[in-house]
Amino acid sequence: MISEEKLKILVDSAKFDVSCSSSGSNRKNNGGIGNASYGGICHSFTEDGRCVSLLKILMTNVCEYNCLYCVNRRSNDVPRAIATPNEICELTMEFYKHNFIEGLFLSSAVYKNADYTMELLLETVIKLRKLYNFTGYIHLKGIPGADTNLIMRAGEYVDRMSFNLELPSEKSLKLLAPQKSKKAILSPISMISGEKQWNKSIKSRFLPAGQTTQMIIGASPEKDGHILKLTEALYKKYSLKRVYYSSYIPMNLKSNILPKESAGLLREHRLYQADWLIRFYGFKVNELISEEDNLSLDYDPKCAWALSHPELFPVEINTAPVEMLARVPGIGLRSAYKIISARRYGKIDLEGLKRMKIPLKRAINFITTNGFYKGLKSENDIKLSLLENKNQPTYTQLSMFSSPEILRSVLIGEI
Ligand code: SF4
Repeated sequence: MISEEKLKILVDSAKFDVSCSSSGSNRKNNGGIGNASYGGICHSFTEDGRCVSLLKILMTNVCEYNCLYCVNRRSNDVPRAIATPNEICELTMEFYKHNFIEGLFLSSAVYKNADYTMELLLETVIKLRKLYNFTGYIHLKGIPGADTNLIMRAGEYVDRMSFNLELPSEKSLKLLAPQKSKKAILSPISMISGEKQWNKSIKSRFLPAGQTTQMIIGASPEKDGHILKLTEALYKKYSLKRVYYSSYIPMNLKSNILPKESAGLLREHRLYQADWLIRFYGFKVNELISEEDNLSLDYDPKCAWALSHPELFPVEINTAPVEMLARVPGIGLRSAYKIISARRYGKIDLEGLKRMKIPLKRAINFITTNGFYKGLKSENDIKLSLLENKNQPTYTQLSMFSSPEILRSVLIGEI
């Protein structure tokens, strides 16, 4: 069985990967049942939408590469550990039997070389499935540059796979992660996407939960507009399930190239909001932001878009198409459909919207009901009333060197 010391190093090194979101707290087990504080337990969503808890661990944090922003980079002096495939399998089974987890998120630093690492990962997932008969959820982080056959074989055993894009441009990749290349990262993503299409047609179970990727935000100078353009292309071209954004945390204070400040959680949050609008609300990136700009921190992206298009508002609740209703700040897709279905039974007024539990605080400034407008009159007042965090402290990323308890709960906290 894997030693506790090794386990601590390997789950701790895995916490910076957000391509499957994680959770945990600093509540200790003082003789009771259960333990919420165990780092390494994270959550993810399966093909059928269930939220499952996963053991999140690295095979090893011994790395041949020297990505400047990464805590596991070769030149960093940190405790190192390597687990064997058997140790990962036994640990997964033990955790599963004790009901700590329902699945595994397995990643790795590049140990010796990409092929060698991918072979170790493949051996682990094959053993889990065939020797230990484990049928739970497995998310495997693929190693860019590894042999195609190893990657495709792994896709037959695991539910989801991800190859991290890491940085939003080739130029930044060359500068900050010189051993990685855009081609080596995109080629397996493209291959998996093609294979998934083909397998869908023959109803095979190749990566049933699809593939995801992750980008670090703020370690390099690319603006949100550029990042979202890239995201849009990734969804379109490779049918990715999710693109995750991870706010850069300064951990390499000796580097002159890396920023000394984190990008901040609010910037990360805005990117997730815009991503949501692109995936579910039919927004195109160039409607939300130009390639050279960052998203507003004062307004959420839908609100910022509506404020910059006064010519399109107010919209009439009783006649507007669903796509336009869903673009009203404060009205989500579900509410837009509720309105459409309620219209079949008669005209809707503000009371009707309240009865449907549609929040009017923001929406009231962008709608009319039966031709009547009840929102604020001046554009300036509307902007002021919608300003977020007027009285709240600014969002900042906690320092890596603040109290260990705070650090732990933030780093493994739900994103
Ligand atoms: S390959 Fe780069 S990002 Fe991955 S563990 Fe090694 S140093 Fe970190």
